[in-house]
Amino acid sequence: MNICWKQVGSVGCGIWLFLLITLPAGCAGRDRLGSDGLPVIRVRLAADANQVAIGTSRPTLTVASTAAGARKLALVEGQPAAITFTGNGWQIGSVNVPGDDLTVTPDVDGTININGEFYRGKFRLVPTSPTSFDVVNHVDAESYLLGVLARELLRDWNEEAYKAQAIVARTYALYEARTQGPGKHWDVHPDTRSQVYGGVKAETGKATEAVDATRGIVAAAGASGSEKIFKAYFSACCGGVGQSAYDAFGDAYSPVLSERNVGGLCNISPKHNWAPVTIDKPELTRRIRSWGEARNHPIAGIQAVDRIDVESVNRFGRPVRFIVSDVSGQRYSLGSEETRWACNADRKGGPQLLSSYFKPVNQPAEIVFTEGHGHGHGVGMCQWCAEAMARRGIPAEEIVRISYPKSVLVKAY
Ligand SMILES: [Zn+2]
Repeated sequence: MNICWKQVGSVGCGIWLFLLITLPAGCAGRDRLGSDGLPVIRVRLAADANQVAIGTSRPTLTVASTAAGARKLALVEGQPAAITFTGNGWQIGSVNVPGDDLTVTPDVDGTININGEFYRGKFRLVPTSPTSFDVVNHVDAESYLLGVLARELLRDWNEEAYKAQAIVARTYALYEARTQGPGKHWDVHPDTRSQVYGGVKAETGKATEAVDATRGIVAAAGASGSEKIFKAYFSACCGGVGQSAYDAFGDAYSPVLSERNVGGLCNISPKHNWAPVTIDKPELTRRIRSWGEARNHPIAGIQAVDRIDVESVNRFGRPVRFIVSDVSGQRYSLGSEETRWACNADRKGGPQLLSSYFKPVNQPAEIVFTEGHGHGHGVGMCQWCAEAMARRGIPAEEIVRISYPKSVLVKAY
């Protein structure tokens, strides 16, 4: 930076100084914008926004709209411009750009920030009403994974766990892009509703190595010779017994996403066992009604909750359905994850259930969720199991195959 000050002088140096401060390690020298031929993942960074701030660490960026074509736009470094949609055009700072569909492209990959966060790839802004719009990051699958991996795993984890996660996250994202994307303008959320995506700031050297070492590799399943990628669910900790996607989410039953008994494999996780969680019945009633109302589910009409009981368990003893009964004797049967979501809904910072792997104990005024195991839904790869296997010397490819029974690994590109 000192050299910069001496050589470039005040104005230029202001730019370069900003660059040096804001570009993260690992970004320099990597320009992934021209990653032609790779599948693109469309991440819905902002939904129905009325305004977002856009900034760049370069003097210009390119905006293109349906009505006005492409043009260079100068932005002052460190001073983001507000973007709004007015119904017949876009306002970007003081510049008006007619048209209803806007694409923003950086001069150099990874140098545009949206609301302060830098992302690789391009951005498409799509109106969702006369005054609101979505911001969708179009990023190639490999660059996308750079921003996912370190957000999904702990920094000190084994590199084989990172590689396994790269394969699984790639599979998941490509599956979602292929099955959820058609007919709409985005594929995935940037958070736990899909996978946690932190953009450029989230990238680490370990994550980048894992993505590059597994480039294009995905898990697939099905009849030999015609295997296809699948929705490669994963979660933090299975608690010793995972559940199938069929039991957890009502998906079609598939051996690749079946329940598994791993014993104590992931007991290195601090969430392998969790302490009893107590929620009083009026609070549970409020939460469950709130969840039902948001989903238009009949349980929205439940009277005061009286008790919760296990309705059925999978072949390894993990509960997969619960009955919620109210004081009138009305019974509602919920799937395992539905039960967890309902009990955690609108909790306003109150106690939460980390998983649906628990035993409810009904007391007069409250329900105690005991014998809790695991964190997350427990379908597919357990990240703590993956880390435990990696520490035992099991390579990433084998970790993935164990996590998804009968799966094979193939190169998607
Ligand atoms: Zn596990």
